[in-house]
Amino acid sequence: MMRPLPQEAAGELLELLEELAAFSAPGPGVTRLLYTPEWCGAQHFLQERMAELGLEVRMDQVGNVYGRLAGAEPDGKVILTGSHIDTVMNGGRYDGAYGVAAAITALHYLRMIFGQPLRTLEVVSFCEEEGSRFPLTFWGSGNVTGLYKGSEAAGCLDAEGISLAEAMSACGLGNGSLAVPAAAASADTEGGRRLTGGALRSDIAAYVELHIEQGITLERSFRSIGVVQAIAGQRRYLVKVSGTANHAGTTPMGLRRDALAGAAELLLALERYAIAEGDPLVATAGRLEVYPGTPNVIPGEVQFTLDIRHSEAGALERFSSALLAEFAALSGRRGLALDVQPVLATLPSPMDQELCAALEDICRQQGMPYRSMVSGAGHDAQLFAPRCPAAMIFVPSRAGISHSPEEYTSPEDLAAGLEVLTAMLYRLAYTENGAAAT
Ligand SMILES: [Zn+2]
Repeated sequence: MMRPLPQEAAGELLELLEELAAFSAPGPGVTRLLYTPEWCGAQHFLQERMAELGLEVRMDQVGNVYGRLAGAEPDGKVILTGSHIDTVMNGGRYDGAYGVAAAITALHYLRMIFGQPLRTLEVVSFCEEEGSRFPLTFWGSGNVTGLYKGSEAAGCLDAEGISLAEAMSACGLGNGSLAVPAAAASADTEGGRRLTGGALRSDIAAYVELHIEQGITLERSFRSIGVVQAIAGQRRYLVKVSGTANHAGTTPMGLRRDALAGAAELLLALERYAIAEGDPLVATAGRLEVYPGTPNVIPGEVQFTLDIRHSEAGALERFSSALLAEFAALSGRRGLALDVQPVLATLPSPMDQELCAALEDICRQQGMPYRSMVSGAGHDAQLFAPRCPAAMIFVPSRAGISHSPEEYTSPEDLAAGLEVLTAMLYRLAYTENGAAAT
């Protein structure tokens, strides 16, 4: 079992987070949208930092940055760790950045203390995960795992009408030219050959991601570490309830087909069903539009969004079907028409059981208070889960707040996550048995 990290490792992590937070557009919190000057600055800064720490650096065609610590017994496979560098508008300094900064710090100390690993380790700073600038998510890990082909970039526009392809080429990406600064370029080789390949990879043996929880479960249970068992699957729908728009003054109550009163009944049923189902099921109607939306007209049509999440595919399916059947029954009773359009369906992503067991073992050995949990939020790890063993480590978010300048995790918890990540990478890359090692 590797010993705990020296005191200065946590300090180095905090400093790196501080430095990353400076790459932000003006305004509250951190705003680092994909392919903006702040984003370019952060990815260039990380390349230089990784090169200084002795990692082989490269940036792929979509702007994912890698830092590699080659193994002594290379089998062509890589143990990958990291997270995403982009943020939402006015987000915090930990979402994504923590996983990247901790991974860099972990590799730095592993190399310093134990030298060359048996198996190759790589840090990744994914270019995009949040979907904040362009109407797609997981652009970084999605290109690595084959969800995207890269060709989607031409037709995808941001709010200003700039295409993803144009934004990429403004950063020197996408055309075979790599935006690697001179300082890092010297390390950007493998056996003397420049790494200029595309984003798609088939050499990932395992993926481990450290991330803030973005919920209140860990804080409520006084645990420093969450071992994520699964990332919830999601169903999203657009629900349309149609009645008859008519004069608010001349239509008697008994003769109305009020779409909004009907929708209100559906939303109360949604809450009732979700509470009855219990954790980890969550269901939300986040946006409601009323037509014509005038004080003196009975609403003729209401549209609302429906977002349902659960960590088990069967339960997600059962709940969604039962709820939509109830929606149909309630609408029918009021003489309202109901139209439900599926918008998104992702399956739950179970994390690798052997890696989860190893993480729990590490927490026990280090005396770290931990708990198993489900992630209700999506993460890059869910794209790796179907392709290779994947694991996620959570640390607490104060008051469960994220995607906000108020996002905060204590230095003690940040250090705890770094310890567990480092010990996990040690097992995977430095021991003969990998995850099974004790
Ligand atoms: Zn994130």
